[in-house]
Amino acid sequence: MNEKAQKILKELASLYPDAQPALKFNSPYELLVAVILSAQCTDERVNKVTEVLFKEHNTPEKMLNLSQSELEKYIFSCGFYHNKAAHILSASRDILEKYDGVVPDTLEQLKTLAGVGQKTANVVYAVAFGGDAIAVDTHVFRVSNRLGLAEGKTPAKVEEGLCTVLPKNEWSKAHHYLIYHGRRVCHSQRPDCANCTLKDLCNFYKK
Ligand code: SF4
Repeated sequence: MNEKAQKILKELASLYPDAQPALKFNSPYELLVAVILSAQCTDERVNKVTEVLFKEHNTPEKMLNLSQSELEKYIFSCGFYHNKAAHILSASRDILEKYDGVVPDTLEQLKTLAGVGQKTANVVYAVAFGGDAIAVDTHVFRVSNRLGLAEGKTPAKVEEGLCTVLPKNEWSKAHHYLIYHGRRVCHSQRPDCANCTLKDLCNFYKK
């Protein structure tokens, strides 16, 4: 790990020692559904929706008791509800048919599920199964680029950069740290650079 990455990681660890996922879940399947719902939506909103949805539909079998339009009614407030409902149902079908109803615990297998992209697979792998992965969401993408920790025009490029510059055993934690920093300090519109303890290490600030 280079010196800059080391300093950033150390500072983020001291700022957010309790960084953890904000999505509520009780099983890998619940997490998978919550992550699909969280695209372009706040975790708070997703938690409200899943609190109701998971009372009756917290396994692939139970989810598939719902039609597309019935599921859409549950998840309407998360936005993009038509696509999200389709993804949840197709992933549930795949889990039942390909994996005997159990969410697979490898990145490769997670990525074979219909409706599950790289980011969702990474989050489920890291958070539900303790695997080493960095999911690049909007916060991780923005903060990594601004700091110059890993630069790239696509999430895949930033993920590749982060995986190169950070040790594997820190990937999952770094993902949460960068999300916290993006939410609390390095906001999309008005980053609070004046109060940011990483400013001396930040490319964006130096410009
Ligand atoms: S100095 Fe500003 S741009 Fe850089 S990480 Fe901090 S808040 Fe974000």
